Amino acid sequence: MTGYITSPYGPRGNGYHYGVDIGYYGEIGHPIYAARSGTAYTAEDPGGYGNYIYIQHDGGYVSEYGHLNSFGISHGQYVGQGDYIGGMGADGNAQGAHLHFEVERNGGAVSLPGYDGQNVTAGAGMSKDFPGIGGDGGGGYSWPIYSNGDQGEAVYSIQYLLEHHDYNLQYHDGIYGSEVTSTVQSFQSANGLSVDGVVGPNTWSALIVTVQSGSAYWPTYAAQHHLRYDEGHSIAVDGVYGPETQGAIESFQSGAGLTVDGIVGPNTWQALVDIGN
Ligand SMILES: [Zn+2]
Repeated sequence: MTGYITSPYGPRGNGYHYGVDIGYYGEIGHPIYAARSGTAYTAEDPGGYGNYIYIQHDGGYVSEYGHLNSFGISHGQYVGQGDYIGGMGADGNAQGAHLHFEVERNGGAVSLPGYDGQNVTAGAGMSKDFPGIGGDGGGGYSWPIYSNGDQGEAVYSIQYLLEHHDYNLQYHDGIYGSEVTSTVQSFQSANGLSVDGVVGPNTWSALIVTVQSGSAYWPTYAAQHHLRYDEGHSIAVDGVYGPETQGAIESFQSGAGLTVDGIVGPNTWQALVDIGN
């Protein structure tokens, strides 16, 4: 939704606010759009969110939209990212018209970025630091920046991709330490990139290799590892692209709003490492 944050995620009063409130000059019916594709449901919580919508996404994510004035979808309808789903209202316990936007993963609330008064724009991606449900699926993902001291699934990807480029690492541990830093510097030097030991957009673009039928071991392994340990697909991590790997990639692409072709090219790599962490 386009508007401004009226109450950010975090401690509030005596409690905790597990979402972000977004207002727009009290305009009842102001349009709200799906944050990501998925199956949308209408619901009612008279003492709380009032009329609300929740959308079930891939990867265990659910996004929720509370205090609605109107429903733009029917219960159980599949919606694409950016589709209109309803209008802002003041239903339930809202004090003044606003959208309560919340994201859960596997039943637990996900911390959302944003500060009081911050302007937000419908269709614009959230902070790239946000580990949640991703950008707009049409190139709206961004390459996250990784450097010394970081850790997580994307660092495994960096380590495996460096192996593919014939750098032999002692550790495959998802930790961006001195070994990764110095190896990235070597890789950058060899590829004509600025040598800073930081994996940003240019280094990501040089590191990634398309994963598809018959593709090389390490890139395939990296994508499988990501799909299994960050996206929850219980697939074998064996460096071999087969029907199981293809199915997991297609499922991820569908949930991420990408072209579903089972091929991890630049867009899908970007979504994998941007949505994940
Ligand atoms: Zn709220």
